Amino acid sequence: MGFKDLEIKKLIKNTYPCECGLVHNPGMERIEISEKGIEEGVNFILTKAKGCIMVISDEITYKIAGTMVIDKLKEKNQDTLSYIIPLKNNVAVVPNESTIGETLIRMPQGIDFFVAVGSGVVNDVTRNISYHLGKKYVVIGTAPSMDGYASSTSALIINNLKESCPGQVPIGIFADIDILKNAPYTMLTAGFGDVLSKYNAVREWRFGRDLNNEHYCEEIAGLIWKAADKCSDSAALLKQRDKKAVENIMEALILSGIAMGMYTNTRPGSGAEHHLVHYWDVEYIKRGWEHPLHGNSVGVALCVICRLYDIVKDKLPVKVMDIETEEIEGILKNAGCETDPKALGIPEDIFRDSIMYGHIMSTTKYTVLTHLNKYDKKLLEKCSEILTKHYYS
Ligand SMILES: [Zn+2]
Ligand SMILES: [Zn+2]
Repeated sequence: MGFKDLEIKKLIKNTYPCECGLVHNPGMERIEISEKGIEEGVNFILTKAKGCIMVISDEITYKIAGTMVIDKLKEKNQDTLSYIIPLKNNVAVVPNESTIGETLIRMPQGIDFFVAVGSGVVNDVTRNISYHLGKKYVVIGTAPSMDGYASSTSALIINNLKESCPGQVPIGIFADIDILKNAPYTMLTAGFGDVLSKYNAVREWRFGRDLNNEHYCEEIAGLIWKAADKCSDSAALLKQRDKKAVENIMEALILSGIAMGMYTNTRPGSGAEHHLVHYWDVEYIKRGWEHPLHGNSVGVALCVICRLYDIVKDKLPVKVMDIETEEIEGILKNAGCETDPKALGIPEDIFRDSIMYGHIMSTTKYTVLTHLNKYDKKLLEKCSEILTKHYYS
């Protein structure tokens, strides 16, 4: 049995010398997503922290879970500090150089252990700072909204551009299932969309393997695929905030993060759909707008890229995996996710340009957009026209 078939808690217990030539190391010690998630998390932190603990949250996650975590830690470790990343002019916090810099400036010296309470931004900021200070951290998740929990890199905005910056895998991921299931519904759909996009990520990875002889690992791809399947199976129950469905999505998000971490590269879990989203996000940031939640954009971009493949697949030099566009759209709709860029609020000009220039968002990851830009710009232009017409007229 390969490691792709292992349950997540078993998977993280070992390191795997693999047939692909790499040694895959999950680099994590504990995962607990249950009614006792926070309690278990606090106990784990107390066994790991040897000195001062810094708990980082934002104004929302502090109220949801941060205050509880801090109180429980303080009962056993007086040396527990809290930093709440402040909202600026009531705008959502952006994980940029200013937020990271201010968080560091407000922090005393001598911190031994970090705890991130939150999902996207709080996790990215804590991951980056703890990495640079050479200290370990755990994350206490508050929403199943993104797959970065187990990632080894931080997605930060530097000079208005999204960059994958150095970081580290948290040694533990904990979450209280009752907190997760009561997260705003847009956060649940975001997590769902992010995981579902893994189908296309694997398609693109195989495309790179078949066309360019790119390194590929069947076991890691299998893990990623399993995460996407886990999500699809829970689609219908998500709207009811069913505990099992939410738990499945959180596990799938963690699993896909672990798979990327084990490959030490985001290749297994993100393809052209992520490049479209990064393009949209960067344009929004340039215009001073708040962009949609990552995973909600990713779900929509997944549909767009599926339609793009429908247009070009017979013209590509290698056969690509068939992923049924209607089926993907059906699964997303079933879970209450958006499937249309116009309905998501993406302006037509940004959408049109993203098809043409989305490939710029990564110079190292070969996707269908990279390929068309390199070998058939006319076809790429045609895709941009057809897809814009499809969604915007
Ligand atoms: Zn491998
Ligand atoms: Zn993503």
